[in-house]
Order: sequence, then structure tokens, then C-alpha cells
Amino acid sequence: MSTTPTLKRPARAKGDRMTWWEAIYLPEIFRGLAITSRHFFSNMTGHILQLFGLGRNLQPAVTIQYPEVVRPLPERTRTLHRLTKREDGSPRCVACMMCESACPAFCIFITAGEHPDPTIEKYPVRFEIDLGLCVFCGYCVEACPEDAIRMDTGIVELSTYRREDLLLTIDQLLKLEPVDRTTPRSMHPIPPREGDGTWSPPGVEVPTHLRAGLTRLSGDPIAVGSDQPPSS
Ligand code: SF4
Ligand code: SF4
Repeated sequence: MSTTPTLKRPARAKGDRMTWWEAIYLPEIFRGLAITSRHFFSNMTGHILQLFGLGRNLQPAVTIQYPEVVRPLPERTRTLHRLTKREDGSPRCVACMMCESACPAFCIFITAGEHPDPTIEKYPVRFEIDLGLCVFCGYCVEACPEDAIRMDTGIVELSTYRREDLLLTIDQLLKLEPVDRTTPRSMHPIPPREGDGTWSPPGVEVPTHLRAGLTRLSGDPIAVGSDQPPSS
């Protein structure tokens, strides 16, 4: 005779049960308010003290007014990929497929071709990275025996209106240049280009080094997608 299996709810751990004190909610609400108020007043006190030149060792919380003000990146941040070049401008990549094999997201697509120079076996006819799949793990950079791929462009803002804009081609990857890694950049002009490309948000003084990062984008040598939404 077959028995029908019954599903049993897993028993809740003892610590998961609410005590009657928690179940009446009000004490927990006041506890939450007390924590929020403590942070609010300690931050405000810190800022007021620093306004008068005191409390230099305090570190009150600050809100960064992104995107008008962009926070410098940590030096070791992995940013958008680029392909490095030989002196003659051709890719250093020898299409060995090591990066493609190491990529856990399967987002590198390479087609190898015979190189005209007999001392170089292969070159990438096609080298594409699908940023929509990339997890920015950096394995491709680690796997490359030729130092042909790096993640030092400083580009971290990758949003786009079209899925296909996230597929970077070999030409786009070769055009990208390294920057001071602490200066964040965008794949697309931020904000959209105006006039000669220099721009600052109304009433906001953009630090010089960040302004350089922003205006650099406006020349559009590396823009790979559209900064406008597609017309429907
Ligand atoms: S960073 Fe990681 S996920 Fe992205 S292309 Fe390289 S190996 Fe693949
Ligand atoms: S980028 Fe480096 S690892 Fe990838 S195919 Fe080219 S040479 Fe090989």
C-alpha cells in the first residue's frame, strides 16, 4: 500500500519566534526611531563642530550628490575593458582564447585569423565582449598571456537604452584608453553633449579633475551607444 508523502513545514528556530514584546510592535518602532535619531544627531553634531574648526578626527556621514559630483574610484577598481595595441596600432591579442575560456559568464566572443606576420601566429578577426553578461571579475585580464586586455579605462557607467549597445566590438575596445583609475568616466557623454562639451550642473562646482573626466567624454572618441532613448 502506497503512502502519500506529506510536506511538513520546517520547524522555526527558537530565535525566529517573536517575543510578545516584539509582537506588540510599538517598542520596536521606538527602538528604530531611536537608532535613526542617534545617527542623525551624531552626524549633525559632527558637521556643526567641523564648521567651527573642531572635531577634525570625526567622520560624520556625507551624501555625495551623484551624478553632479562623482566619487573617485578606489585605485584597484576594475573598470571597462580595453584591448592594448602594438606599436603599429594592431592588437596585441594573439587570439589564443585563454580569456574566452576563463570567462565565467561566457561573454567573450573571438574568431581567430592567420596573421600576415609569420612571427605572430594568429590575430582576432572578431573580438567582442557582451557587457550585459559580464560580471567584471577580471579573470580575462588574469588569463591573458600577452597583456592584451586590461580593465583600466575608468569607465563604470555602462547604462544604455539598447541591449545591443552593450556588445563592444574589437574596434571600440581598441579605441579605449587607460586613465587615472580614480577618475570615473561614462561610456556615454555625461551629461549629454552641449556646445563645446564643457558643462557643469547648475549651481554645482564640479572639481577640476572630475570636469576633465566629464569633458573628455564629450569628444565622443569612445562613445559606443546612444545617449538618446530610441524613438518608438
Ligand atoms: S571580467 Fe570576467 S565576466 Fe567580464 S569578460 Fe572578463 S572574464 Fe568575462
Ligand atoms: S586577449 Fe589575451 S587571452 Fe584573450 S585571446 Fe587575446 S591574447 Fe588570448
